[in-house]
Amino acid sequence: MELVILGSSGGPQPNGKRSAPATAIVRGDDIHVIDCGNGVARQLVSAGLRLRDLKSVLVTHHHVDHNADLGALLHLAWTAGLVTPVDVYGPPPLTEMLELIRAVGRPDIEHRESLGRPKLSGLMRGHEIASPGVVVSTPDMTITAGTALHPPMPSLAYRIDADGSSVVVSGDTAPSEQITELATGADVLVHEVYSPEHLGRLLSGTNADVDELRRHFARAHTDAESAGRIAKEAGVRTLVLWHLIPYDLTEDDWIRQAARHFDGEIIVAHDLVRIPC
Ligand SMILES: [Zn+2]
Ligand SMILES: [Zn+2]
Repeated sequence: MELVILGSSGGPQPNGKRSAPATAIVRGDDIHVIDCGNGVARQLVSAGLRLRDLKSVLVTHHHVDHNADLGALLHLAWTAGLVTPVDVYGPPPLTEMLELIRAVGRPDIEHRESLGRPKLSGLMRGHEIASPGVVVSTPDMTITAGTALHPPMPSLAYRIDADGSSVVVSGDTAPSEQITELATGADVLVHEVYSPEHLGRLLSGTNADVDELRRHFARAHTDAESAGRIAKEAGVRTLVLWHLIPYDLTEDDWIRQAARHFDGEIIVAHDLVRIPC
């Protein structure tokens, strides 16, 4: 099993240095994508992966930095030769969203289906996750959804167990005992982080209320020191700092904070990095 960081940035504003949040679990040819930030299809191709090998998509929540390209990924994978179904998991209203994605794409879909492609609707299998638990259980892989703490948005974290190894991706979350529990004993924890003292520059051009945004970060996101504490409590081998807000702090800045509590391996996520698990 291999973890591929497709996009390491966080938040909705595009930047020129890091792509939007997305990761992939790769096993042989099979690809399982977790979150679909803007540009995810291109990032998969840039990582040397084939879109037609997409097997499942796990959406953590419906903030736009995590789902902007859900439709684009499915639609473009289909144009790139997809012939097998893709199972899509995520919180409600996922089913309605998949219907709307098909509606928005209808002119193109109808033309390409007329060229002999399989029906796209038959390749998109939605599974709404209303409560935590095992969502995939096969002899060689288990995927478990856990509850993330990201008010007011219903949000999930995912744990993938396969090939004698385990990876947890937090999605967006404040420090949460449920995430710690989900990650207990995992080999790799990919955890979102933000830096409270560096929010000022990020928020300077916003069209939202700055004080309200700061309160949102405090109740719905995790600083790097806390991510290190969670990694320690969960007993993971490797902590990957991901969904980096802001996107342009140095690696040393992030690692110094996370290492206050965690003495295991710490990796600052970069786009297209492959991490064997
Ligand atoms: Zn996010
Ligand atoms: Zn979010």
